[in-house]
Amino acid sequence: MADKITVKSPIVELDGDEMTRIIWQYIKDKLIYPFLDVDLKYFDLGLRHRDETDDQVTTDAANAIKHYGVGVKCATITPNAARVKEYSLKQQWKSPNATIRSILDGTVFRKPIIIKNIPPAVRSWKKPIIIGRHAYGDIYKSTEAIVHEPGTAELVFTPAAGGKRLTMHIHDFKGPGVIMGMHNTELSIRSFVKACINNALNEKVDIWFGAKDTISKQYHGFFRDVFAEEIEKSKNTLENVRVKYRYMLIDDAVAQVMKSDGGMLWACMNYDGDVMSDMIASGFGSLGLMTSVLVSPDGKFEFEAAHGTVMRHYYAHMKGETTSTNSIASIFAWTGALSKRAELDNTPDVMTFAQTIERIVIETVEQGTMTKDLMLIAEPRVSRYALTEEFIDAVAGRLEKAV
Ligand code: NAP
Ligand code: MG
Repeated sequence: MADKITVKSPIVELDGDEMTRIIWQYIKDKLIYPFLDVDLKYFDLGLRHRDETDDQVTTDAANAIKHYGVGVKCATITPNAARVKEYSLKQQWKSPNATIRSILDGTVFRKPIIIKNIPPAVRSWKKPIIIGRHAYGDIYKSTEAIVHEPGTAELVFTPAAGGKRLTMHIHDFKGPGVIMGMHNTELSIRSFVKACINNALNEKVDIWFGAKDTISKQYHGFFRDVFAEEIEKSKNTLENVRVKYRYMLIDDAVAQVMKSDGGMLWACMNYDGDVMSDMIASGFGSLGLMTSVLVSPDGKFEFEAAHGTVMRHYYAHMKGETTSTNSIASIFAWTGALSKRAELDNTPDVMTFAQTIERIVIETVEQGTMTKDLMLIAEPRVSRYALTEEFIDAVAGRLEKAV
C-alpha cells in the first residue's frame, strides 16, 4: 500500500454509545487508520465515562472543538430514567448534544445523502435540502395558561432601568380560553443567521428563509429584518461564491420546497424547523442517510450522523444476532470533518481522500450492496442486504483499490 496521507492539524473525536460505537470502531479500523496519519484528540463520551467524569468529558470535548475548529461525533445516549437504572448512573446527565451546542453557541444543520437507487418520496428532489433550525425560544421557552372565566389578558414589559412600563392588551375573554407569552432575543437570532451564512458558504447553496411577517408584523418581522441585516453585512462574501438569499412567506416557502429540485439551505424558525426537518428526513428515505453538522457563528464545525445509537440493533448484536445497521451517515460524519480540516489546512490530498470515500460509499450502494433499511426502499429492488460489518468491508475493499 502507498504511504499514508498526513492530516496536518488535529481533529477532535467524540466517541459514543451502543451500535454506533461499534460502527465507529469499524470505520476507524477499516477506513481511517489504514490510510491516514491523523492526530485525533480523543474524548470518550460513552455514557459510562460521562458518568465517571461527572460529565466533565463533554465540556472538555466541546472546548477542544472550540480550540481546534473541527470535531467528529458518534451518537450518544441521552439518559432518561430507564438509562439511569440500566447504567446505575450518579444522575440523569444532560443531553451531550445540548451541552456542546450551548458551549459552541451553534446551530444544527441536517443534510441528506442522495443516492440514485434510493429515490426520495418527492420525485422532483434531486439535490439535498439542508434544514437549519433556530433552536432557541418561541414556543419552546414560552409561558402559557388556560383561563377558566371571563377576564382580560395583557402583556407587560417592565424595563430593568426603571422606565415606563409597557402594557399591551391581548384579549377580553367572555369565557374560557388559552393564552401564551413567548420571546426570542436579537443575539440568538443573529447567531443563527451567522451560522446559516457560514454553512451556506461551506455548502455553496442558496439560503431560503420563510416567516409569517404579513400576520406577525413585529415578531416575525423582527426575524426577517435581522436576517436581512446580517445578509447585507456578508453581501460581498456571499456574492463572491454566488450564494443568494431569498425571503418568502413561510407557506410560499413550503410550496416552493416541494416543487424544487433541492439544493438549498432552508433556514427555519424553531417550530418550523422541528416539524419540517422530520418531513424532509422521511421524504429522503432513511435516517441512516441523514447527516448533521453543528456550526458556530465564529466558524467551528462538529459533524455527526442525525440518528441515535440504534439501541434495538445493539441489543440484537449483544445477543449474538447479526445486524444490518446503516453506517453511511457515520462515515459521512468522518468525511465531513476531514473535508473541513483539509479546507482549513489547505491540504488537497486530504480533501481528495474524503471525497473518494464518499464517492465509493455511494457507488457501493448504487451497485447493489446496502444495508436492510435501504434494501426496503431501493429501486430497482435488490435481493439481499449486507450485514453491518460487511458493508464497511465492501467500502474498505474498494477504497484500497482506489488509493
Ligand atoms: P435511533 O437510534 O435513531 O433509532 C431509531 C430507529 O431508527 C432504529 O431502531 C432503526 O429502526 C432506525 N435507524 C436509525 N438509525 C439507523 C441506521 N443507521 N441504520 C438502520 N436503521 C436505523 O433512535 P432511538 O432508538 O430512539 O434512540 C436510541 C438512543 O439514541 C437514545 O438513547 C437516544 O438518547 C439517542 N439519540 C442520540 C442522538 C445523538 O447523539 N445525536 C440522536 C437521537 C437519539 P429499526 O429498529 O426499525 O431497524
Ligand atoms: Mg421534530
